[in-house]
Amino acid sequence: MLLIDPHIHMVSRTMADYEALALSGVVAVSEPAFWAGFDRSPAGFHDYFRHLTEFEPRRAAQVGIDHYCWICLNPKEAQDLGKAREVLAQIPDFLDRPTVLGIGEIGLNKNTANEAKVFEQHVQLAIDWAARRPHGPNRPRHALILIHTPHLEDKLKGTRMILDMLKGFGSAIDPARILIDHVEEHTIRLVKDRGYWAGMTIYPVSKATPQRAVDMIETCGPERLVVNAAADWGVSEPLNTHRTMLEAKLRGHPRELLLKVFHNNPAEFFGQSDRFKPRPVQIQDL
Ligand SMILES: [Zn+2]
Repeated sequence: MLLIDPHIHMVSRTMADYEALALSGVVAVSEPAFWAGFDRSPAGFHDYFRHLTEFEPRRAAQVGIDHYCWICLNPKEAQDLGKAREVLAQIPDFLDRPTVLGIGEIGLNKNTANEAKVFEQHVQLAIDWAARRPHGPNRPRHALILIHTPHLEDKLKGTRMILDMLKGFGSAIDPARILIDHVEEHTIRLVKDRGYWAGMTIYPVSKATPQRAVDMIETCGPERLVVNAAADWGVSEPLNTHRTMLEAKLRGHPRELLLKVFHNNPAEFFGQSDRFKPRPVQIQDL
């Protein structure tokens, strides 16, 4: 079986985790920029972006995994608008690096006005990136965007705020180029019905479980849906994407569906970026 984990924070994981992923069929991962567990200086972000774009792809390559990443200031550190300005000024250069898929994971944490402002500034950076590309019929409207939705009690309100802000950009936004992550039962339809991609995060102690995720695949359909472990430095489990796949398999879902959700869907979303180098997969590989 071959899989892509579309959201995992490998900077906080060991080589043993990389090996476990490779041994269990992961061929590519994508790593959004996130919170380090403490607030960083703008210089700290520069080092972090170098880590994501220089060191981590080399580490992943040691076990044959392709490593891609996303660049942004995470919502948890968006309260300081002065710092945000300095960090966002660094982003355009990094967006041009060869393994960067786009802007992410941006979003909201506590749904504050400053977080919203910085969210919109990031979306504008994605639009500006496209404006620098050569003109032509195939020029995308903006760089790919990966969005974090808030935890627990803030999730529904935060998801609605994010959708409203995106709507405010009008035709500058292409929902097919935006993945909204950490959806749950009460937010998945809001996201999918508007044409966005939806991501489900499988966590041991919060967010969805493998069982709930498979329920959502069954009730909302596998289109524009991806599954991730989002493993980081907290209580998390890199193989939870696999556990979800196993749950779907045990319920009798065909290989075609497993291949679609756990490999082809993320490959299709990432494939909108010419940075992503897909590996041809046959059904017998699964
Ligand atoms: Zn994350």
